Amino acid sequence: MRIIAALRALERATRPYDPEFAAAMERRWAELPEAVRTPGQVLGRHGVGCEGTHGVFPKCNLKCTPCYHSRGANQVRVDGPHTQEQVTAQMGLLRALRGPRAHTQLIGGEVSLLAPDDHAAALAIMRDHGREPMSFTHGDFDYDYLARLALGPDGTRRFERVSFAAHFDKFMYGRRGMERPRDEQALNPYRARFAAMFVRLRREHGVRFFLAHNMTVTPGNLDEVASVIRDCRAMGYGMFSFQPAAFLGDERRWKEKFREATPDAVWAEIERGTGTRLDYRVFENGDVRCNRTAYGFYVGRRWYPFLDGGDSRDLAVRDAFFRHFGKVTFTGTPPALLAARVTRVVVRHPSTAVTALRWLGRTVRRVGVPQLVRHRMRVRPVTFVMHQFMDADVVGPAWEMTQRGEQAEDPGLRETQERLAACHYAMAHPETGTLVPACVQHAVLDPAENAALRTLLPIVEVRTPAGSSSGTSPKEK
Ligand code: SF4
Repeated sequence: MRIIAALRALERATRPYDPEFAAAMERRWAELPEAVRTPGQVLGRHGVGCEGTHGVFPKCNLKCTPCYHSRGANQVRVDGPHTQEQVTAQMGLLRALRGPRAHTQLIGGEVSLLAPDDHAAALAIMRDHGREPMSFTHGDFDYDYLARLALGPDGTRRFERVSFAAHFDKFMYGRRGMERPRDEQALNPYRARFAAMFVRLRREHGVRFFLAHNMTVTPGNLDEVASVIRDCRAMGYGMFSFQPAAFLGDERRWKEKFREATPDAVWAEIERGTGTRLDYRVFENGDVRCNRTAYGFYVGRRWYPFLDGGDSRDLAVRDAFFRHFGKVTFTGTPPALLAARVTRVVVRHPSTAVTALRWLGRTVRRVGVPQLVRHRMRVRPVTFVMHQFMDADVVGPAWEMTQRGEQAEDPGLRETQERLAACHYAMAHPETGTLVPACVQHAVLDPAENAALRTLLPIVEVRTPAGSSSGTSPKEK
């Protein structure tokens, strides 16, 4: 009897689809505007999109131009209990409205200003709600902080895996050892040092990692994008994400004619850095005017896409993936369990094995056996992303019209409404039970939210006796 019970439990655990996740996918697809229900659309087929926290730890200790946080953000105290309470409430709503699995960013200010225990508690809350968390940072912290985050007081692992997105660009001022970078290249030792901390953590404590590299692009560093990719491609980052600057957030930080770094110009520079064309229509995440993505891998110094958008056989692979594996939850599933679930899909649909083997053969031929052998079959998956936030002066009116159920006549506002409707990046408001696009959060809601937080979590000046240098003085960002 015990064996039968165990077999039944195993059968249940390895069922390929979680019905709740499948239902969340169907809801997401049904909510998408018709125009973005393209063959490559990932939303509603294999994911619900990204999520992010807000109003949890708004303060930062660097100065960036531009900065998407409102000007009041730096007058709010970083507070562990407040962060945990807010993260719990926001994750609860995301769990209820977007289903059991998603990628979620722990974002809002500088995450490393949280004490390591508070940071770890926030990540654990996110995991408990089925979220795969990624901490957003400027990367200016030491190995000691990372170790105290990843390990408990007894030195054992708190997490099997951590994910960080580190923002590096030359418009960030105040980094230790590099107050004002002269160019992007000057930051490369800092980029390398950041990634090396995670390699050390894995070596010493077995904690796996995923790292994304974020960079704001303006006309002032557009022509350095390609060299950042070439110089940093082998440092350990699994994603390079570029954000053409928008007129959003703190208006005191708008220093350039950002619009000259157009999405096409930025994408062309990313292509120059990879040395190949990047097809962002094979897989789409929401509206391609907001997001462009290219999934692939490096062998040595050359990057190859997983699927070639110019080859109909590869596009058939994508379609088969969505059809048979789209509703399998890859995120947060332990590798052995995932393998068991995938095997069950293959047993049920044997043609998927044939499709996969043919794709593998084509991909190996594309790379070339000598190239693979030369690099000892080392394949490094790296994704390229471009995310273009929208300017505050269009988001505000477009969002108001959407709330009133009106459709804009003006082409610019109409485009903004369309992009907001297909938004890939949501933030939760438990007080109203609603989700909003991150553009709306930053353009419309952040200022009042931070004003309220300044009252709730004021920064307390500590007066110290004359001659002492230990007083705290909040730094105006
Ligand atoms: S609407 Fe804004 S936040 Fe949402 S995906 Fe588009 S640019 Fe990003």
